[in-house]
Amino acid sequence: MVMKTGSEYIESLRRLKTKVYAFGEQVTDLVDNPLFRPHINAAAVTYDMAHDPVTEDLVTVTSHLTGKRINRFTHIHQSTEDLVKKVKMLRMIARRTGTCFQRCVGFDALNALYSVTYEMDQNLGTNYHERFKEYLLYVQDTDIMVAGSMTDPKGDRSLRPSQQVDPDLYVHVVEKNEKGIVIRGAKAHQTGIVNSHEMLIMPTTAMTAEDARYAVACAVPVDAPGVIHIFGRQTNDSRKNGQIDQGNARYGIVGGEALTVLENVFVPWERVFMCGEWQFAGSLVERFASYHRQNYGGCKGGVSDVIIGATALIADYNGIAKASHVRDKITEMIHLTETLYAGSIACSAEGRPTPSGAYFVDPLLANITKLNVTRFIYEICRLSHDIAGGFIATLPSEQDLRCPEVGPYVEKYFRGVASVPTEDRIRVARLIENMTGGTALAESMHGAGSPQAQRVMIMRQGNLEQKKKLARILAGIPEKE
Ligand code: SF4
Repeated sequence: MVMKTGSEYIESLRRLKTKVYAFGEQVTDLVDNPLFRPHINAAAVTYDMAHDPVTEDLVTVTSHLTGKRINRFTHIHQSTEDLVKKVKMLRMIARRTGTCFQRCVGFDALNALYSVTYEMDQNLGTNYHERFKEYLLYVQDTDIMVAGSMTDPKGDRSLRPSQQVDPDLYVHVVEKNEKGIVIRGAKAHQTGIVNSHEMLIMPTTAMTAEDARYAVACAVPVDAPGVIHIFGRQTNDSRKNGQIDQGNARYGIVGGEALTVLENVFVPWERVFMCGEWQFAGSLVERFASYHRQNYGGCKGGVSDVIIGATALIADYNGIAKASHVRDKITEMIHLTETLYAGSIACSAEGRPTPSGAYFVDPLLANITKLNVTRFIYEICRLSHDIAGGFIATLPSEQDLRCPEVGPYVEKYFRGVASVPTEDRIRVARLIENMTGGTALAESMHGAGSPQAQRVMIMRQGNLEQKKKLARILAGIPEKE
């Protein structure tokens, strides 16, 4: 068995030479730096839970390639049960971390590439699937964390990749030789990439023949020569040197995203899984996106469980827990959370095998689930703010609480019910503030694709002609010739 523990995962990051910049400086202590450590801790939970007898049923699985027990984050779904277990696993992990644990992006990229490389080979006579299976064996054997790299910077959104003034705004092939290819460009919003081992690069949109050099999928180590990561700011990142004001000091907020620049990066042929097959770029995007949208009722369901718990606690601490309007609002938060979860379970239960044998979710239901997240999480957070009160946004800092001169005033005037220590009330308020605002909220809107991307897929999958036919039959309107 080769499954890493959380601490083995963390130690393995120390051996990488990942080039990361933050606040205008190159980072030399990534693993121990408070800017990154919470995100690393969150990813480490996906490793530790594989070794916990209580959670291993969801987090481990038998590899269909080797028959060995592997971490589920490196698995290719072999049944609807696998798809359902994925969602349950994500909710379970999110309940522990209260935030993004990042590893699902690469998990979804592995699954999307597995089935699409098979279909490419069947249709075009290429030989990508066997090559990809070799890579998958390596991922399963080493239990590495793989980032999924899809989103290009995109430049002028009205232009295709090949029409951009700057050709680097979409990742593309600049050279091919007998050993491999050289790629150039950048990938944006890369969740968990600075604490991953490798990244799976995929095209970000459907392509035309003119865009063929942009139709590229490949695996690249995150510390390969020419790869530079520029870490994104979060709304609370200046709080990361403290404890209470961060809200969730151990696991952080959201995934820790970066802009990843690919400055003429060499990729050997054995790690190239699409190179010019523009006809399959769209299927790869849709398959990856649907897998990732499947997740959101799982991970956001788990995150919402924590928000609901924090909101119920603050109601207790404020002395309003028995008020009927508070109970109504918490009921609504539970209703919205379980509706999200139900969507993720439904798109998994309705999954189907692809020609490769790997299972794929119902794409319509997966997109519905993610579109619901873009609304319901905002409503869940709104209700949490409503119950918690404005002090979550106006609290003095942790330093003021500890200050000999003004600390006693903070202690005295921020107390709620007399039996609860002020610090406990402040801790829960900070947890709510950080989980329900700023970066965390925007991630629910745009993570796994912006709402319009889901609407496009919903319209495409919604089978409007069939619905019109149903109406025609009942209305007694004959079919047109
Ligand atoms: Fe996984 Fe959710 Fe984070 Fe996406 S947002 S990587 S599904 S935990």
